[in-house]
Amino acid sequence: MDDGREGLRIARLFRKYRVGLDVRRCDLEALCEEDFIECFDSDLMEPGYTALIQRCPDGLGGGIIALQPGQDGGRRRFSIAHELGHYHIPKHRGLEGYCADRDMRARPADANQREWEANDFATELLMPRKLFAEDARKLDVSIESAVKLGAADWYDVSIMAAAWRIVQLTREPAAVVVSADGKVEWMYRSDAFRLPLTERGQYLHADTLAAAAFRDQTAMPRVQEVDRTAWLDGRVEVPGTLLESTHLIRSLGQVVSLLWLTETEGELGDGRD
Ligand SMILES: [Zn+2]
Repeated sequence: MDDGREGLRIARLFRKYRVGLDVRRCDLEALCEEDFIECFDSDLMEPGYTALIQRCPDGLGGGIIALQPGQDGGRRRFSIAHELGHYHIPKHRGLEGYCADRDMRARPADANQREWEANDFATELLMPRKLFAEDARKLDVSIESAVKLGAADWYDVSIMAAAWRIVQLTREPAAVVVSADGKVEWMYRSDAFRLPLTERGQYLHADTLAAAAFRDQTAMPRVQEVDRTAWLDGRVEVPGTLLESTHLIRSLGQVVSLLWLTETEGELGDGRD
């Protein structure tokens, strides 16, 4: 069966690395050890890849994963999990394992299917669909929730990865939007979000929290109501309330926005800002 979901299916075989129902964090260290794979940071600051895998040439299994230095905990774990995907998906066997940042973001529609498959593997390994969806359903669609779910004692992933997974699994109309230099860089919408948003390459509206995060260099992790026309096409009649929360990645000069269209007016209780 080649529906492009082989990575997901294989990742599900690694359930034993998350011992017990109350454990969310995948034990990547144990997984690498069992696979005879050693992970280390490159000596070069700019090695020309984010991560790479090299199999042992004798064909007996095992190998090395080299990483560009400076990747923080969650990002580093995603890079390792992505390379483990290349290692475990049989048809990736002959692959040159040099993976760049853009490969770590490859999606089903992208031309390079193998990079998407490795990400599908990594995402399922680190944030299994059923478990993560159940946890996320109890929380707001917000950066605050992504911070909680991404914490080291939860799934131990980056806020970016957790935010993306929340949108991927929610039944709510929601979107994650990444901006840089005041412009939209890329976005991902949930299945229920069918409205036009500010497009890739367009400048952010001044009334978005994302624009405010660039101006003030301060993020707003908790949901706040924003003017719907700031993100949505002004001609579209939309019932309900548009909520936004933001995360600032200073090292990359990026702002991550989570957008959540709630159907009920006045759903926010007291005590929220
Ligand atoms: Zn790759």
